[in-house]
Amino acid sequence: MRRNIVAGNWKMNNTLDEGLNLIKDINVNAKKTDVKGVQVIVATPFIHLAKAVEEAISPVRIAAQNCASEESGAYTGEVSAKMIRSTGTEYVIIGHSERRAYYGETDEILTKKVDQAIANKLYPIFCIGEVLDDRENDKHFEVVENQLKNALFHLSEKDFGRVILAYEPVWAIGTGKTASPEQAQEMHAFIRKVVAEKYNDKIADEVSILYGGSMKPANAKELVSQADVDGGLIGGASLNADDFFGIITAF
Ligand code: PGA
Repeated sequence: MRRNIVAGNWKMNNTLDEGLNLIKDINVNAKKTDVKGVQVIVATPFIHLAKAVEEAISPVRIAAQNCASEESGAYTGEVSAKMIRSTGTEYVIIGHSERRAYYGETDEILTKKVDQAIANKLYPIFCIGEVLDDRENDKHFEVVENQLKNALFHLSEKDFGRVILAYEPVWAIGTGKTASPEQAQEMHAFIRKVVAEKYNDKIADEVSILYGGSMKPANAKELVSQADVDGGLIGGASLNADDFFGIITAF
């Protein structure tokens, strides 16, 4: 079933104490707020994962922000999908534009990360999205289609069914500049069409596609009310429990 999902991405923010306090605040809001069946996910730095899993109450689930492309071994500083899963974490963000841009994550590397995540029973939240130059040159559909094809379309129908997609136009991330609801809807519908062509209508209909890029309480409602926008991947506004719930309650 296609689910409405709001996922917070803390990025490189919050010490252990700060992070656990934020989870506690999120719990308080989750108890008193009618989240109407929205799946709430919080993607923390690795250091928080094990404790965040213990702390978070339903409907809050925990995600990592990255995982290694290799299974195990001599990869100093890396954290494997298996290690992440062993903390009780269920989700992992893969292919965020910051990882692609600053850490050289190519489609080839992302393919391996997706495979590691699936093999270890994590749900990948796979990010796609064009840079401003692509959009200005009318290449945004092509770029997004290639990102999907190159890193995900080797998956079986069953494995693809574990994937959550996040369309994040890079020009909208952390810039305060949001895609218009029409731009988001147009791209989300396109993504669903590309998935239907590769797999089938049922799979395309069931995949949750989140929008990300300067989503906040003030603009969330018009974005999530679009037919093909199933939620959000939230950076800045996920660092404050009230702002985060302002988005969750936009459904
Ligand atoms: P933002 O980040 O909400 O701060 O724009 C979104 C993201 O990078 O996932």
